[in-house]
Amino acid sequence: MSMFGQVYVKDNKYKLKGEFHHLTPNTPIRDADDNWKLLGVTNPRDMTFIHSYGGEAIFFESLSQGKLMATRCDQDGCDSKGTIYIPFRTHCPDCLGKNSVIDLTDIAKTTAKVHTFMVCERSGAFNVLEKPIKFINIEFDGVATILMSYLSLGEPEFNMEVVPIFKTTGPTFTILDLSWVPKGTSESQLPEGFTF
Ligand SMILES: [Zn+2]
Repeated sequence: MSMFGQVYVKDNKYKLKGEFHHLTPNTPIRDADDNWKLLGVTNPRDMTFIHSYGGEAIFFESLSQGKLMATRCDQDGCDSKGTIYIPFRTHCPDCLGKNSVIDLTDIAKTTAKVHTFMVCERSGAFNVLEKPIKFINIEFDGVATILMSYLSLGEPEFNMEVVPIFKTTGPTFTILDLSWVPKGTSESQLPEGFTF
């Protein structure tokens, strides 16, 4: 097994280690109705894409540390000054100024409620969440936007009070490091690797 491609940044440049693509043997495609005549070949492809988080990196880093970060427009003269956004918006959609990063963890722990939800019995390719997936849209006091995430325990209901949980052990540094459970859930019930 070759080493997965890994990336770090030094002197403002990507430094690559390991393999970013793999040569995998072709296999023949044959016609079962015509004496297994050759019709073509499969061309397996396996690539590593380098996905930069840019100004959103602090959001994902914070999840791994048990913190939920949001942003707020603090620009004088903006009609939307003081508006808080999560999902994390690096820039204000109204004045296009750079937003301030704020810690929303306490507000999330005390005011998060299910706005609406969707239970997904069948998923697309590469899903790693347990099915059915309980997608929830979450509202917070004083926040202008609704956050899409997933409920790890219990059944979703409208206006249900939920609290965030974070994958602080073995984080993936993706949005899956954030999940939610009903308020009152005990620490021992949380999925592996997650903490409050
Ligand atoms: Zn603004």
